[in-house]
Amino acid sequence: MSSTVGRYAPSPSGRMHLGNLCCCLLAWLSAKSSGGKVVLRIEDLDAMRCPREFADLLEADLAWLGLAADEGGSKGGPRGPYYQSERSAIYEEYYQKLVRKGLVYPCFCSRSQLHAADAPHRSDGKVVYAGTCRNLTPEEIVLRTARRKPAWRVMVPDETISFVDGHMGPYAENLAQDCGDFYLRRADGVFAYQLAVVVDDALMGVTQVVRGADLLSSTPRQLWLYRELGLPAPEFYHMPLLLAVDGRRLSKRDGDESLEHLQARYTPEQIIGRLAYACGLQNAPDPRTPAELADGFSWQRVPQNDIILPEGLF
Ligand code: GLU
Repeated sequence: MSSTVGRYAPSPSGRMHLGNLCCCLLAWLSAKSSGGKVVLRIEDLDAMRCPREFADLLEADLAWLGLAADEGGSKGGPRGPYYQSERSAIYEEYYQKLVRKGLVYPCFCSRSQLHAADAPHRSDGKVVYAGTCRNLTPEEIVLRTARRKPAWRVMVPDETISFVDGHMGPYAENLAQDCGDFYLRRADGVFAYQLAVVVDDALMGVTQVVRGADLLSSTPRQLWLYRELGLPAPEFYHMPLLLAVDGRRLSKRDGDESLEHLQARYTPEQIIGRLAYACGLQNAPDPRTPAELADGFSWQRVPQNDIILPEGLF
């Protein structure tokens, strides 16, 4: 066995769709083709939106497809718990490290203030936090806290973080200009994805992260958090997004591409084979098991641009 540890990190707020599935397939192939293993971590920070039955269904779906994880989820393992909803005490410890470094501050901005027309935006339309609450005095903080529970942000430096993505190539972002001070914790105490994912991947021994290209722009801030927290960073492979035939993004609300519908019509090998075809991993949509695909797997066959599902493939 190699030392590669890949992972699935789904947020089970519904049944998996082809996009989620494709991500699991590539994560599995990338880890297994080099003799590694895969850990399943359930990203249910928002526990209300991700009830346990969805997580259980997801595990059953993965097993049905031949993509069961080696460790984590309900199977457990040495570095559990593997449900983010059960890891708050661990996040608290790392959050406090950032607090002790003087990097965390309360933010009282309302949603409408944040999205005001004059708020700085990045090229993908996301708002860059203007730093409105960065320099509040202790007195102002006391006054405002009496009126509104704050969320908590981390102060980022004016520094460009660059890295080489295993699939997408070089990528860089200036934290202050392209990202801004970002949330670590919501006003209700729930920790933010950016903190949880870094702590979890490091503590779970993950060495290889495979995920959708929509998270490419989260990577510089996560790399910076790894550094600030003194944790080892994994390597990253961002995969192209899978789009429906009409070019729209797949979502858990859409019926057709959800596993529930697919299961009624196809065998696991048919689903895996067709997905592998859509991703460039084989030249025809022939049925395949993940193990069969692992043999000749290469990231070079996977396109970098978004993949539109060919008409009639599913
Ligand atoms: N939980 C995230 C999702 O379901 C993935 C996060 C990650 O891979 O870093 O989209």
